Amino acid sequence: MTIEQLKKDVRNVPDFPKPGIQFKDITTIVANPDELRFMRDELAAMYRGKGITKVVGIESRGFILAAAAAIELGAGFVPIRKHNKLPAETIEVSYEKEYGVDIIQIHKDALSPDDVVLIHDDILATGGSMLAAVELVRKLGVNRIYVNCLIELDGLNGREFLAKHGVDVDCLMSIEVDE
Ligand code: AMP
Repeated sequence: MTIEQLKKDVRNVPDFPKPGIQFKDITTIVANPDELRFMRDELAAMYRGKGITKVVGIESRGFILAAAAAIELGAGFVPIRKHNKLPAETIEVSYEKEYGVDIIQIHKDALSPDDVVLIHDDILATGGSMLAAVELVRKLGVNRIYVNCLIELDGLNGREFLAKHGVDVDCLMSIEVDE
């Protein structure tokens, strides 16, 4: 298995969820057992030895590899979810989207300042949701934070946007946004 093979197998769905968007569909690669294992192993290898105690996944496609990598790293899994989905006491961050404002939440007791956290999502586009996730984790007092995405969309400057806010991101692969 290679990253090049994975890149070929990500399905591009034009005009979803609205005209003009080239949607990168990862269901094709997580459905393939060899590719699923490969992604889990590659992700875990990037962070082994860093003392990660919790892997935070961003709803919903971020959950898949975050949970798989957490098991591999001997860490726990923590979800960040959209507004009003988590049942216990939460803290939240709101951020601007293309249309309107989104709110994401995490359980108040999910992390503590001595945790070493890896935040994972499937796609890095503009970086807005990832920055909000970092802010949420920081609000719980955590300052050792690693940030990872499976796919970086080239051409949307998400990496530069995050860097401006002092956040480094590592991605398993990059794909042209219009590919
Ligand atoms: P952003 O906040 O702009 O970086 O957007 C990242 C979030 O939106 C991720 O959770 C992605 O799953 C989703 N997303 C944004 N653009 C795409 C795309 N072209 N294909 C698939 N998912 C996308």
